[in-house]
Amino acid sequence: MRLPKLRELKEAVTAVFSPRFTTRFPAEPCVVPERYRGKPEFDLDTCIGCGACVNVCPTEALTQVDDLDASPPVRRLTLRYDTCIFCGNCRDNCITEEGIGLSNEWDLATMDRGSTIETHEYELQLCEKCGAVIGTKKHLIWLYEKLGPLAYTNPSLLIAKSRELSIELEAIQPQADKTVQTSDFMRILCPKCKYELNIRL
Ligand code: SF4
Ligand code: SF4
Repeated sequence: MRLPKLRELKEAVTAVFSPRFTTRFPAEPCVVPERYRGKPEFDLDTCIGCGACVNVCPTEALTQVDDLDASPPVRRLTLRYDTCIFCGNCRDNCITEEGIGLSNEWDLATMDRGSTIETHEYELQLCEKCGAVIGTKKHLIWLYEKLGPLAYTNPSLLIAKSRELSIELEAIQPQADKTVQTSDFMRILCPKCKYELNIRL
């Protein structure tokens, strides 16, 4: 019988008397490092439904659908963490910087794949002239607050914020005519209709 090499013997003895490198999970809870990238989680107070995170998600774990037939029209953001690779792109590109984060939740195994899907709804703002999607109402309010006094140069933002405060700046009369007119100044308009109003008229 060949004697074990001295180097291997030394390693074996050292391992026996060294502290463990593995955890005792599931006998004991596993504590992950502070910056661990686990299950993504929305913060529904600070998420405005802009969809920037959807655009940068490489695996389509985040998706978005605008439902114009709903009453009122809504944007649905869906997160399915079974296809998430925990890259952190969504968190790093969130325009409010707090709308989505990666928690330290890592024990995500399940037999029910449907439980990995969550959907959140955000009311949409449509152009009051042509009906195109402008964005979510929360997004317009966020822009108003972000811009401060500069928001007063944009009637759409001003009107959106006023309505949130239940102040109607001017009664909006429905118009069958889709042509933009100067009387549309105090309406919430999409960029195309705003261009027609400010540049062409
Ligand atoms: S961590 Fe990466 S893969 Fe997961 S939802 Fe965010 S962007 Fe998508
Ligand atoms: S980028 Fe941020 S604010 Fe926009 S939808 Fe994603 S989580 Fe919400």
